[in-house]
Amino acid sequence: MKTEGDSERYPITRLAVKRGCPVCAAVKHFQESLPKQLRAEEPTPLCNFHAWSLAKSAPAEVAASIFLGALRSKEWDTSPTSPSSCAACKKVHEEEITRLEEVTTELERPPIAEWLEQHAVFCLRHIHLLKKRVPAPLQEIIEKLRIENKAKLGAELEEFLRQSRHGDRTGGGVLGRAAEFLVAQRGILD
Ligand SMILES: [Zn+2]
Ligand SMILES: [Zn+2]
Repeated sequence: MKTEGDSERYPITRLAVKRGCPVCAAVKHFQESLPKQLRAEEPTPLCNFHAWSLAKSAPAEVAASIFLGALRSKEWDTSPTSPSSCAACKKVHEEEITRLEEVTTELERPPIAEWLEQHAVFCLRHIHLLKKRVPAPLQEIIEKLRIENKAKLGAELEEFLRQSRHGDRTGGGVLGRAAEFLVAQRGILD
């Protein structure tokens, strides 16, 4: 069990130096602290994914209190819940927007501006969302990045495929990176 305080959030500038999409990394980190963000014993509708991840990984008392709250949620009296009514999904989406705003602000500052031009990796979801938020010159840089990220991943996948055909299946990390690039990090968003 993690013991980090509720307020701990990795700065986006720190996540940007790691491999992979920093918005995904921030949202994934938030998702891991989600049981703390949900108010226990309040009416809390949950989707399939979040109900099961609470059952599986939240501290037992926290999960039990949240489930008690969920049982009191009126949403379930009339119909099954879906990601659109899930309290956890809503919080994850809010965090995604906050983090996208943070990236948008940082993109014009030196260390991140440099990273953006040279080593940045974003998933397609966040590339498209960022492009809608930034001024034209940055849109061009992000579009260039999309093309480069895609080409690099394509080349790695081709190499992986070539090696697999010869019986060498090491280097499967590229499959995870391909999935993240296409649909964002695992399980963070519907
Ligand atoms: Zn992403
Ligand atoms: Zn959900």
